[in-house]
Amino acid sequence: MIKYKLICKNCNLLFDSWFASSKEYENLKNKKLLNCHVCNSKKVEKTLMAPKLLRTNNHRNDKNNFKVKEINKKLKEYQKFITNNFENVGKNFAYEARTIHYNNKKKYKGIYGTASKEEVKELREEGIEAEMIPWLENKNN
Ligand SMILES: [Zn+2]
Repeated sequence: MIKYKLICKNCNLLFDSWFASSKEYENLKNKKLLNCHVCNSKKVEKTLMAPKLLRTNNHRNDKNNFKVKEINKKLKEYQKFITNNFENVGKNFAYEARTIHYNNKKKYKGIYGTASKEEVKELREEGIEAEMIPWLENKNN
């Protein structure tokens, strides 16, 4: 079921009407079966619902903003854990990861750093565990 806001072009009456589908509305309109229940005019048309759509979009954005904030909060917690418990190897991440893997080096700490997507892909192909997480720049530093 679809609810359309209809307007009578003759008396300017606005009213809601239910249709099984947008096709049914078109059918009724083409067969001139749509008429204003006040003045009986057949000049009845669907009104544009743009303002309502706009509101819906804004609402969705608010929700997304909220989600982004939640995700950022989680990421920051994750980052804090990593910086406290892992060794920062910076741009040498791929090199360090390989060194640990191939030399069977047992590091007390895990490592973290930056690597390109390709580097991470290569590491994974070599059987080296590497996870990518989005990293937030700390604006306070
Ligand atoms: Zn009317």
